[in-house]
Amino acid sequence: MKMNTEQMIWARQALLPNGWANDVLVHVDALGQIASVTSGAPRQGHVVDTLLPAPVNLHSHAFQRAMAGMTEARGPDPRDTFWTWRRLMFRFLDHLTPDDARAIAAMVQMEMLEAGFGALAEFHYLHHQPDGRPYDKLSEMADGMCAAAEQSGMGLTLLPVLYRFGGCDRRPLAPGQRRFGNDRDRFAQLVAESGKTLATLPADSALGIAPHSLRAVQPDDLAFCIDLAGSGVVHMHLAEQQEEVTEVQASLGARPVEWLLDNAALSDRWCLIHCTQMTPSETVALARTGAVAGLCPMTEASLGDGIFDGARFVEHGGRFGIGSDSNIRISLTEELRGLEYSQRLRDHSRAVLATPDHSTGHVLWQGAARGGALAAGRAAGKISSGLWADLVALDGHHPDLEGRDGDLILDTAIFSGDTRCIADVWSAGRHMVRAGEHVNKAGIVAEYRRVLARLRDVM
Ligand code: ZN
Repeated sequence: MKMNTEQMIWARQALLPNGWANDVLVHVDALGQIASVTSGAPRQGHVVDTLLPAPVNLHSHAFQRAMAGMTEARGPDPRDTFWTWRRLMFRFLDHLTPDDARAIAAMVQMEMLEAGFGALAEFHYLHHQPDGRPYDKLSEMADGMCAAAEQSGMGLTLLPVLYRFGGCDRRPLAPGQRRFGNDRDRFAQLVAESGKTLATLPADSALGIAPHSLRAVQPDDLAFCIDLAGSGVVHMHLAEQQEEVTEVQASLGARPVEWLLDNAALSDRWCLIHCTQMTPSETVALARTGAVAGLCPMTEASLGDGIFDGARFVEHGGRFGIGSDSNIRISLTEELRGLEYSQRLRDHSRAVLATPDHSTGHVLWQGAARGGALAAGRAAGKISSGLWADLVALDGHHPDLEGRDGDLILDTAIFSGDTRCIADVWSAGRHMVRAGEHVNKAGIVAEYRRVLARLRDVM
């Protein structure tokens, strides 16, 4: 992990909590926190064009990256669905070693940083050996996630996942799910051990808890998880697929979001992933709880999940953030425009998430930065003193961005741009992306190639 020193970053313009400001000097202390922010300052230090808060990527299963592109042919079923995709994922897991998972995670985190994400909340459920037996060190796989964060320099909120059953009826885990399973006692031990490894990372790392879903844990497990999380964040997959809604309804007598609203004290320490299957009244009620909706537009499209009711959710004050989930492609700008475009396609409308004061891009970026930080339990999401310096600079020399100011540059980057618009990224002050490239890129890519070649041979 790169050690921090004090830094001065000067930006031609920056998106501050109260809006755009010019000639902004950001002083980052040696811990990686923002010590001061001054506008109208003379040019000095590391000079950038447009400085933004770097959003947290709030939902990822790093290992799934290595499956990208392998699930696009039709299977034997008459209709290819989420569930056929999941079968291939389980087969893939028969071969993945701890070192493979670490190398894939380092690659994924490197690409996230290059895409403009400042930190990551990893929803970590791959715990055991392929036959389901724990590794000699229970937290072997979690330790690999931490080692990847050390290599990539990306701030990590680790979310160990409790996964107990193969469905709402408490059926045992299927062979493909054996690597995920724990009873409560062993899970508590796993969380404690993972926490110890995480504590060796820089101080911006954090620990949360993730009860996998209402399919994989029972209501009393949920209470156990909340207790175990202490003051940490709680993440859960919720209402992703219609089939899941039907199963939960049959078992618990209510739709997943409806059930959770009635049975959990939802607040801003909760992050609910997907929520693509909600009624309008569930959407409004969820928005009012302050819980963050963890949206993964590209994965939700890839898996045919459905469309999140973003217009209604945001209108009622709902908080959201962005995750790359299956990591089939890692692009912050594409996730954000995917979210807006899904609303347009459904509503036959334009600039759906824009407000009278702010453009679509402004609402998307600021929403993802603030919601993502909340979901990760990370003091970040704004360029403001006392917060971690999770920062991203747009490249003012990019032909599409040159000479553009304020909301217009954000809209251009989000709706026409990609990772090539990103010049620099800092995660808690660690300056990991410079001139568009991660500083450890060559080594991380070489390891990833080696792992993929091995997997190609054994699968
Ligand atoms: Zn997920």
